[in-house]
Amino acid sequence: MYFRPKKYLGQNFLIDNNIQRKIVDACGITPGDTVLEVGAGRGELTKLLALKTDKVFALEIDRNLSSILQDNLSALPQVKVINQDVLQFNLLNFFKQSNRIKVVGNLPYYITTPIIVHLLQFRDKIGSIFVTIQKEFAQRMAALEGSGDWGAFSCYLQYYTEPEILFYIKSTCFRPRPKVDSAFVRLEIKRDLPLDEAREKRLFRIIRSSFQQRRKTLRNSLKGVVSSSRIDRFLNQHNLDMNIRGEKLALEDFINLLNVD
Ligand code: SAM
Repeated sequence: MYFRPKKYLGQNFLIDNNIQRKIVDACGITPGDTVLEVGAGRGELTKLLALKTDKVFALEIDRNLSSILQDNLSALPQVKVINQDVLQFNLLNFFKQSNRIKVVGNLPYYITTPIIVHLLQFRDKIGSIFVTIQKEFAQRMAALEGSGDWGAFSCYLQYYTEPEILFYIKSTCFRPRPKVDSAFVRLEIKRDLPLDEAREKRLFRIIRSSFQQRRKTLRNSLKGVVSSSRIDRFLNQHNLDMNIRGEKLALEDFINLLNVD
C-alpha cells in the first residue's frame, strides 16, 4: 500500500535490507527478551525483531501507519502494535512484569533528545537502548572528554549510560533520503549511580552552566552557581589549572567538584 511519508513526523524509512538485518543482529535479542520498538513505521524492522523473540511492542504515533502496521504484522501474534506518542508512553505502568527491556528505534530526528531523555526516566525498566540517529548527534553522545564534540549532553548521557557507536549508515539507505548520514548506537544503562536525585539535579546545573559560555574559565562560568572558594578547593585538590575552562572537565571532575568538602 502506498504511503506518503510525513516530514513533520521524521518519517525517513530505512529501506536497506542488509542494514535492517545488521541492526537487529547487533541488538543481541534472545528468546524471552521484551523489545519495545519506538517509531515502528511500516514494520520492516519489527518483523525481523519478531523472529528473535515473542514479545515485541511496536509504538507508532501515526494513526494511518499504525493501521498499515497492524495489517503488515497480522500474521505475527507476538507483535503488539501501540498507536501512541512515545513521549506519553509510561514504561513503568505498561511493563509491570518485564525488566531489562531492550528498546530499539530508528528515531524521528526532530525529537531524538526528548525521546532519549524520556526513556532515561524509566531506566530502571530498561537494559539497553539501540537507536539510529543523526551521525553528528551520535558523535556528541559518545564524545571523549575535552574533544570538540564534548558537551553538556555528552555528560548527561554518559552519567546514565555507556554509549557506543556500533556503525554508521549512509543517508542513501533511507527514503525519503535525509540530508545527513546516521549512526547506530547502543546505550547500555548504568546501574549503581553515584548520586541521589537531588544531587544529580545539582550536578546537571553545574554542567549546563560550565558549557554555556565555552570560552569562559570554570570560575567565571560558575559564578552564582558554585562558590569560588569551593571551586578553588576543587582545583587545588585535583591539581588543575586555576584558569581551566569548564569544557575541559571530565564527567568525573564535575562529580568531584560537587563532592568537594
Ligand atoms: N522504523 C521505521 C524504519 O526504520 O523505517 C520508521 C522510522 S522513521 C525514522 C520514525 C518513525 O517514528 C516514523 O514512523 C514516525 O511516524 C514515528 N514517530 C514520530 N514521532 C513519534 C512519536 N512521538 N512517538 C512514536 N512514534 C513516532
